[in-house]
Amino acid sequence: MADTLVSPLHVEIITPDGPIYTKDGAMMVVARAVDGEFAVMKNHLPLAAALTINPVRIKSAGGEEEIAVFGGFLEMKDNCVNIIAPLAELASTIDVARAEAARKRAEDRLASKNADIDVERAKLALQRALTRLHVAGKL
Ligand code: ATP
Repeated sequence: MADTLVSPLHVEIITPDGPIYTKDGAMMVVARAVDGEFAVMKNHLPLAAALTINPVRIKSAGGEEEIAVFGGFLEMKDNCVNIIAPLAELASTIDVARAEAARKRAEDRLASKNADIDVERAKLALQRALTRLHVAGKL
């Protein structure tokens, strides 16, 4: 297991398409669970958490990276952080114009008084769009 000062945490983000992110030497992972934001560092006790649709921040000596993670679970054990999510996106793969259009669509739906609107669905679409825009550096 990665347990040296040089390589404190090993981080993997896995989706049904396979691993989209792997990092050795992370110092801290910050994520948002259903009951709030939390951080894990080296030697954290074993942990499992259900994640919300939000950016996950990975801090290392070289700086901080943000990955858009759309739910799923985070498991921490033996200084390995595994995130298993139905969908996750790197900033470089995010289409900003598409996310902005999705944000507008969702906001317009939520603002409308139309009784046919599925409010929960629109809220989730908005949260996906905001997560993408945040990770793409547009918020
Ligand atoms: P849209 O309304 O634009 O489709 P959405 O939030 O409903 O957005 P999802 O259901 O989360 O889209 O994703 C469907 C597929 O489209 C996934 O493969 C996802 O990675 C991709 N995708 C959606 N929005 C974007 C985006 N802005 N940039 C890159 N890929 C995206």
